[in-house]
Amino acid sequence: MTESTFTESEERQELRRQVAKLASRYGREWFVERARAGEKTTELWLEIGRAGYLGINVPEEYGGGGGGIGDIAAVCEELAAQGCPLLLMVVSPAICGTIISRYGTDEQKQRWLPGIADGTGTMAFAITEPDAGTNSHNITTTARRDGDEWVLNGRKIWISGVDEADNVLVVARTEDARTGKLKPCLFVVPTDAEGFEARPIPMEIVSPEKQFQVFIDDVRLPADALVGDEDGGLVQLFAGLNPERIMAAAFSIGLARHALGKAAAYAKERTVFKAPIGSHQAIAHPLAQSHIEIELARLMNQKAAALYDAGDDLAAGEAANMAKYAAAEAACDAVDRAVQTHGGNGISQEYGMAGLLVATRASRIAPVSREMILNFVAMHSLGLPKSY
Ligand SMILES: Cc1cc2nc3c(=O)[nH]c(=O)nc-3n(C[C@H](O)[C@H](O)[C@H](O)COP(=O)(O)OP(=O)(O)OC[C@H]3O[C@@H](n4cnc5c(N)ncnc54)[C@H](O)[C@@H]3O)c2cc1C
Repeated sequence: MTESTFTESEERQELRRQVAKLASRYGREWFVERARAGEKTTELWLEIGRAGYLGINVPEEYGGGGGGIGDIAAVCEELAAQGCPLLLMVVSPAICGTIISRYGTDEQKQRWLPGIADGTGTMAFAITEPDAGTNSHNITTTARRDGDEWVLNGRKIWISGVDEADNVLVVARTEDARTGKLKPCLFVVPTDAEGFEARPIPMEIVSPEKQFQVFIDDVRLPADALVGDEDGGLVQLFAGLNPERIMAAAFSIGLARHALGKAAAYAKERTVFKAPIGSHQAIAHPLAQSHIEIELARLMNQKAAALYDAGDDLAAGEAANMAKYAAAEAACDAVDRAVQTHGGNGISQEYGMAGLLVATRASRIAPVSREMILNFVAMHSLGLPKSY
């Protein structure tokens, strides 16, 4: 019988403590100031890179820490818990780093992984298209062979961090597979390639990390821009999408912890009717409820990461979807309750609670919406007919 435990390893707990310590030197105020000034968080990004946290899941021979998704998810969660959520961690090391580690050639790994690991070569990820939306099977970004080269054409939307990235891992389909079931092909496209353009989308999220519309017009790429097999199919893509869900859950859980921590502290201090507002169950119970919901989401996310790191992709897929759902719900509710606890201060810039509303609300939409997770669970976990 193998021993099972519900406690993370001492090593993982120490990792959390160290990341929290590093991130606390920056903190929420610093992060929001950068966002409002239109500046970036490059300093923090490079520092976590130098410390080995950014590439903790990347194989050691390519400059990483040789850890798993559970490790990088712990880093992401602790940063967010200190008020410094880094969305590009979801994309660069977790999606792109994983796909290249699993399916890249040795030469491709040497070219891209060290920069992903130390933060000097960030990679964005582009699958979403304006017309296809949630239905990624309908993407039309197309790769055509021209001699030794590929020529890429298409449109992408909501792509995070293109302005901070050297490359974008673009999901396309080959010309001879234009219709029918999607056989996704993955291309590394330099952001300075001719024919590649990114336009920022004004968003309500208070974050230095921006979303972009991407225009790909006759972008010429060398043969080895293709990562993995042309006929590799969905498996190669899902190698990156399950980590994405686990990371998105970690991101939400971290933000939820941040908001709840602030709310509990405020509820202990703020006195209105002769007693701290936290002595009223109307304030205490919703916060207690959030604590429970966050812990449940965390536990599910640790399970998803453990399954993924053990190589059980199928079970990890189900758990990652559930964890992502639970984390988004827990985060939206926790932030809403934190705003309520702060009263008028909940809407002020000084206390920073309302600024979290849109960031956490986005987690019900991206990277996979709550409806699509419910569709997945209805069909795969409950055996109900496919509804989409
Ligand atoms: C902040 C942010 C960052 C993002 N970053 C990236 C990125 O870096 N790279 C990238 O590729 N994408 C990114 N995305 C895109 C994101 O993955 C999509 O927004 C998401 O998949 C939803 O697609 P959509 O916006 O086109 O919504 P739509 O597909 O138009 O869906 C609209 C609504 O209809 C619902 N719906 C659709 N079909 C069904 C159905 N069959 N059953 C039930 N409900 C349904 C959806 O759940 C949703 O609520 C980002 C999005 C956001 C908001």
